[in-house]
Amino acid sequence: MNYLLDLHTHTLASGHAYSTITEMAHAAAMTGLDMLGITEHAPEMPGTCHSFYFMNLNAIPRKMESVKLLFGVELNLLNADGDVDLPEETLAKMDITIASLHTPCFKPQGIKENTQAVLNAIKNPYIDIIGHPDDGRYPLDYEAIVKEAKKYHTLLEINNASLNPEGFRKNTRENDIEMLKICKAYGVPVVLSSDAHYADAVGKFPFAKEVIKAAGFPENLIANHKKELLFATLAEKKNRSGLYKF
Ligand SMILES: [Zn+2]
Ligand SMILES: [Zn+2]
Repeated sequence: MNYLLDLHTHTLASGHAYSTITEMAHAAAMTGLDMLGITEHAPEMPGTCHSFYFMNLNAIPRKMESVKLLFGVELNLLNADGDVDLPEETLAKMDITIASLHTPCFKPQGIKENTQAVLNAIKNPYIDIIGHPDDGRYPLDYEAIVKEAKKYHTLLEINNASLNPEGFRKNTRENDIEMLKICKAYGVPVVLSSDAHYADAVGKFPFAKEVIKAAGFPENLIANHKKELLFATLAEKKNRSGLYKF
């Protein structure tokens, strides 16, 4: 089964990542990806780019070598209300958006507050993907999240970097397996992402593939294989420019 898409990656602009857009696109072409999403950290992450960066994404071509490029953002969830750190008018012009819990921007709270933040992100029509909902530092009610993701056509991510044994998130494998079992039961798709912070990691999901297998998760619910599934899921949610040009 081919993995055609990697929608969550970072370049130099994120401040703690190390490759250029051109290097990332080249790596995607070498790995055989059809589509690469570049999603820099949003402005509340220390060291990342200014909000102006996200307002000028039309300056970049949407194709390099053989790879279609999507430009967007990895937003920071700021509170249980699901507020994020870019305005809707900026998000409306993006090709792809991810929202995640990050410790510099959201101090871990109880399961109720953490879950509320993620549920509000799922309901947000400007958010396409929930990034790394596997981090045990933020306990979540996976049953509630999966049900709401199905209702609002928001994709849940299986994040390869989270599953790296050298990673800093906690209990990610156990949490992913729990979430995948619930996704399977409700027929809810997931998307595998590298969360690459260097070009070599683009389009590679060894840990995510292992967890998919361990959970017995069906290939036909993985959005990386089928652009139709990705587009159908997201198109149900909204009809934005960018992504739907492809
Ligand atoms: Zn990062
Ligand atoms: Zn993240």
